[in-house]
Amino acid sequence: MNQKAKEKHGIFRKVTFKLTLLHLILFTTTSLIIFILIHLSLTSALRARTDRSLRDERREFESLYVKHGLKELQSEFTNEARSNGSGAWFYALLSPDHKILASSDLNPWKGIDLKPGFINTFHEGEEFFKTRRHPGSEHKVRILYKVFKGGNILQVGHSLRDNDEILEEVERILGYGFVAILMLGTLLGWLISRRAMSGVERVTEIATHIDRSELSRRVPAGSEGQEIEDLARAFNSMLDRIQSLVRDLKEVTNNVAHDLRSPLTRIRGMAENVLLAPTDPSEFRETAGMIIEECDQLLGMINTMLAIAQVDSGLSHLSKTTLDMREIIQELVDLFKPAAEDKGISVRSLLPSRPMKVLGDRAALQRALANLLDNAIKFSGRGDTVQVTLLRENSWLVIELRDTGMGINEKDLPHIFDRFYRGDQSRSKAGNGLGLSLALSLIQTHGGDIKVTSTIGKGSTFRIYLPHTPA
Ligand code: ADP
Repeated sequence: MNQKAKEKHGIFRKVTFKLTLLHLILFTTTSLIIFILIHLSLTSALRARTDRSLRDERREFESLYVKHGLKELQSEFTNEARSNGSGAWFYALLSPDHKILASSDLNPWKGIDLKPGFINTFHEGEEFFKTRRHPGSEHKVRILYKVFKGGNILQVGHSLRDNDEILEEVERILGYGFVAILMLGTLLGWLISRRAMSGVERVTEIATHIDRSELSRRVPAGSEGQEIEDLARAFNSMLDRIQSLVRDLKEVTNNVAHDLRSPLTRIRGMAENVLLAPTDPSEFRETAGMIIEECDQLLGMINTMLAIAQVDSGLSHLSKTTLDMREIIQELVDLFKPAAEDKGISVRSLLPSRPMKVLGDRAALQRALANLLDNAIKFSGRGDTVQVTLLRENSWLVIELRDTGMGINEKDLPHIFDRFYRGDQSRSKAGNGLGLSLALSLIQTHGGDIKVTSTIGKGSTFRIYLPHTPA
């Protein structure tokens, strides 16, 4: 499809067009219904008026006929028809065998059959109204039939020309009104939908023009209404999130590059040394050992990064079972204790006597806890203590790791769970700044959270919260 054709189709697909069309359809149907109702009620009002006049005339003639007889009636027929104008009224009195006993001038009414078959069905005293065609005239005739005592039939006819003229005039006015309403409706619909859509267009405009360098642009507040404001707000907060994601991504990429560069440079240096200054095989072995160590650290970092990514994206396969948290803690404390004691740090656990159940993945919980325990020992020194306590707080199971180590300064505290973040004082220690990040991701996939409080120089307390599973 070429561009022009696309644009043409585009107009029909626009909400503004659809809303305008909807307005048009609504206006058309509503005004058509109103106009039809006006027409119907006017037609019936005019008919009622005609019938009233016919009946008035009939009454007049009937009493005249009863009081003064046929002769008077004949002259009244003639006078009345003449005074009402030619072609407006006709009057006739027929005998029971349909002979014309008296009539007004019937010349203008030639096409009308005064003896149609249906008058045979009338009974004495009965009165009927009929609307009949008038051959040779475009207007119909309304005729009143009244059967007098003795069987004579009075016919009073009135041309519907006046009614037709009134109706035509009204139809003309309604027609103009209809066109005017349609035009107004379309214009109004277009204006309203354009106004409603202008906010959407504003947001679209900005969204279309935002590229990587302009992520800080935001949709300004407008006055189009609550929905548009909500849309703009949702759009802006999405931009906030994208911006912070991009920032995080940049930071992580920088950190990864940095953390990879140092060990790789060291590995390269070691290999170069060996090449440039050939030494004896034992030194080769030593260098190879160091290179393996560096590689292991690199692999460890890469694996942790992959683990975090997997946990965060929900791709890691956690097999959750009901676990007694006391066992996991005790196993880990037993595992870490010897190495800690070698450094002069005492590690102890305070566990309740009752089982503390949690629904979780054993390996994942072990890893999260191990990272925290490892940190507590790593950032403590000779004479310090690390205490792991398990307790319950409402529906939460809390694992508290309290150490009397170096503590975390206020500046670092809000960032320690960020990927690759390492506190200033911890630079000298081994690590890559991913341990807490992974631990938090793992705990969060269990519906839990980790909180930390710390005083520099006095120690830190990490609290892991996990939903408690009733036994
Ligand atoms: P790493 O331990 O590899 O540096 P982590 O993500 O485990 O990375 O921890 C991030 C930072 O948080 C550490 O560099 C350190 O500054 C701080 N930290 C974590 N745990 C403790 C602790 N128990 N005592 C003092 N500082 C800690």
